[in-house]
Amino acid sequence: MNFNISVISGDGIGPDIIEQATKVLNKIGHKFGHQFKFIEVDAGGIAIDKFGEPLPQKTLDICKSSDSILLGAVGGHKWDTLPVEKRPEKALLGLRSELGLYANLRPAVLYDTLKDACPLKDEISSKGIDFIVVRELTGGMYFGERGIKETHLGQAAWDTEMYAVEEVRRIAKTAFDIAMLRNKKVTNIDKANVLASSRLWRSVILEVKKDYPQVELDHLYVDNATMQLIKNPSSFDVIVTTNMFGDIISDEASQITGSIGIIPSASLGKSGLGMYEPIHGSAPDIAGKDLANPIATILSAAMMLKYSFQLEEEATTIEIAVFKVLENGYRTKDIMSIGKKQVGTKEMGQLITDEI
Ligand code: NAD
Repeated sequence: MNFNISVISGDGIGPDIIEQATKVLNKIGHKFGHQFKFIEVDAGGIAIDKFGEPLPQKTLDICKSSDSILLGAVGGHKWDTLPVEKRPEKALLGLRSELGLYANLRPAVLYDTLKDACPLKDEISSKGIDFIVVRELTGGMYFGERGIKETHLGQAAWDTEMYAVEEVRRIAKTAFDIAMLRNKKVTNIDKANVLASSRLWRSVILEVKKDYPQVELDHLYVDNATMQLIKNPSSFDVIVTTNMFGDIISDEASQITGSIGIIPSASLGKSGLGMYEPIHGSAPDIAGKDLANPIATILSAAMMLKYSFQLEEEATTIEIAVFKVLENGYRTKDIMSIGKKQVGTKEMGQLITDEI
């Protein structure tokens, strides 16, 4: 089969990790008889430098007409002083909203072989960590009204957290559907004891739950949730939460599973078009130094095969290859521990490709 994939390498470590993920996809294509055509497009800081805007219309058009999108990361200190509308991160928000990608799936799994990279005590991590964060991606504070105004205390700035019933309903359905395929347990994370938006959020979650009698549902306030993730991570199966809480919670999840360099993500909407990217950012501190862990991006490519192209066996082949390379003791610096073999970005990508 033939697939057209828009590839946004972006900034910082983006090009380093995307190179490894496309190499892996080419190997999968060779092994299983598929052709992946990569269409390179610019977004983020590099697009600002070339075209004066973070998300050029041409990039958006090409993304919309492709079968799927693979993204590295955007952003960097060079563009930090630009006004918020002109910053690289605007490209991400633009892609998500323009493509209607409201559901962001972020699986967090502690591989047995990586337990040395987990900072939790053995008695906690040995119970296993395997959950998925279902983060709402096109609403809430990241998209709400914001501004600056003068007050009697001087200048003040404000952002708005707002959720409509339909926005919550569709992400809740996504979470419950996923739970039906897993261990039938959903944990809703909100701040309903304080925020009006969270109270509406929770009431819709409860409403949707009625269609899923087999699924167990519990609720945690976000402050308690951050604690429980450290104290009792094995109690989670599917987490459903807002855009901002999901952003924070999944970075925490990345630390208890080893590194932010291994967590992939899929952003999905109604249209069937998906965008796949690691959960980390552009890591300017290690860009171009052959230090970035490419596994999150490679596993994001596996999610693409599974969710956008329904190529389950091919996706599993990538996951097994990653697992075997880790089992064989190879580690990038972020997950390195005593007795293991440290490799760079390129070698890690090549080892996974060879394993396939
Ligand atoms: P970051 O995720 O880029 O980096 C945080 C820390 O994790 C750094 O120490 C970095 O070296 C490390 N790290 C990240 N990815 C890694 C990998 N693959 N392998 C090894 N180590 C890795 O977050 P930040 O420093 O807060 O942000 C840097 C820039 O990225 C900012 O401009 C930010 O806005 C942007 N950002 C972009 C995205 C995205 O493109 N999706 C997401 C988050 C942040």
